[in-house]
Amino acid sequence: MFVRRIAVVGTGYVGLTTGACLASLGHRVVCADVDPAKIDRLRDGEIGIREDGLADLVVEGMAAGRLSFVVGASAALEELAREGDPVEVVFLCVPTPMGVGGVADLGAVEAVLEETRAALPRGAVVVTKSTVPVGTAERTAELLGRDDVGIVSNPEFLREGTAVHDFLNPDRVVVGSSQQDAAERVAALYSRLGAPTVLTDATSAEMIKYSANCFLAMKLSYVNAIAELCERLDADIADVTEGIGYDRRIGQAFLAPGPGWGGSCLPKDTHALLQVADAADFEFRLLRATIDTNDRQRQRMVDKIRTMVTGKRGGSLSRRKLALFGLTFKAGTDDLRDSPALGVAALLKQAGAELVGYDPGVVGSGASIDANLVTVVDDPYLAAKDVAAIVILTEWPEFRQLDWRRLAGLSAGACVVDTRNLLDPDVLDRAGLTWAGVGRSART
Ligand code: NAD
Repeated sequence: MFVRRIAVVGTGYVGLTTGACLASLGHRVVCADVDPAKIDRLRDGEIGIREDGLADLVVEGMAAGRLSFVVGASAALEELAREGDPVEVVFLCVPTPMGVGGVADLGAVEAVLEETRAALPRGAVVVTKSTVPVGTAERTAELLGRDDVGIVSNPEFLREGTAVHDFLNPDRVVVGSSQQDAAERVAALYSRLGAPTVLTDATSAEMIKYSANCFLAMKLSYVNAIAELCERLDADIADVTEGIGYDRRIGQAFLAPGPGWGGSCLPKDTHALLQVADAADFEFRLLRATIDTNDRQRQRMVDKIRTMVTGKRGGSLSRRKLALFGLTFKAGTDDLRDSPALGVAALLKQAGAELVGYDPGVVGSGASIDANLVTVVDDPYLAAKDVAAIVILTEWPEFRQLDWRRLAGLSAGACVVDTRNLLDPDVLDRAGLTWAGVGRSART
């Protein structure tokens, strides 16, 4: 097997997974980050994020001498050069957050290009794994100003929580470039994974990433809208999604209604594609409606909680104590970025409620949550003491295993609002709790 000499810039969910997985495939990888404290922790084998199997890969890679960590992209290039052979491939895995007006902020991407521009050896390939707006590859070429360096777009599709599994078992690999040799070299890095590979131009590769994420967001907004209609028409969303999900043209994935989609990707990527469409003079009404539907969803959950707690629409939540079960943007991760759970919490707080939160992904993770918003405790039974309602906001499977009779006994007259339709209503019935889900008739 050929061994490539690779620099990975950015050691977050995508970069650390990319670096550790490529090292596990036998390559020599130096990972770089701007955050010196993060690099210190990584050198000690502490990955700082919750990802199945990632810590083991990091420790194995370091022990085998295939994986190391440095501060700064240029230091990664220097480290490889010092070993004798210069870097061959540089992966950009830095953040591209939502900037002013919804446009993707490419500041970190540009900073890395500026930092490495002069030091890139002839024949090296710069690979953008960060999610970037359509047209960024052209801008990258301009910024680099080097026609002896390859530029490739290789969007990443991993999911947080299962990042290592997803990286090593991708549904597909997408490699886009106008330079065939550079594209083939990047595609070859993944050849052992046996995934279908889409070789295309960079613009199409960038478009693939945005269209995939926006399609997933659209599917979720559609399901949330159908769930709302189910409530009005007395249909049951669980049966409806089961019934449509068996259709292979639709599929079961991304059919669960909830408090709205969130996380570090879907909100920023939907807004960014909307801006890309705007710039191309295309009024993307479908995507606009996808975002608008989602923006309403958090408030809809608050209205539901209000009705359940006060027994009437528009009742006051002032000084009502609520337990929030789940704060992360989805189960299986410790990531709180743009979490719909925190969005609902903020609206509840505005309405005057007092919030106590519990989340298995947050316990012991060191995640910082504004204590003025929600008091976070590490025990669900403590969170649920003397509350007016327990609100399920993240679909952690362990919530199903809680002792719901005991929880019912902790607060007289409490109800459960399950924004994820996670719990079995019969279990709650038997525990003596009234219950409301999403897209199904409440049991009061
Ligand atoms: P992250 O915030 O977890 O990690 C980014 C890292 O880059 C941080 O450690 C940060 O310190 C570092 N960084 C910032 N500027 C830097 C610089 N100039 N030089 C070196 N390091 C720098 O981000 P992430 O979730 O890994 O996402 C990275 C990119 O991948 C984004 O564009 C995102 O949209 C995309 N993406 C994310 C996911 C996901 O599930 N998180 C999935 C697919 C694609």
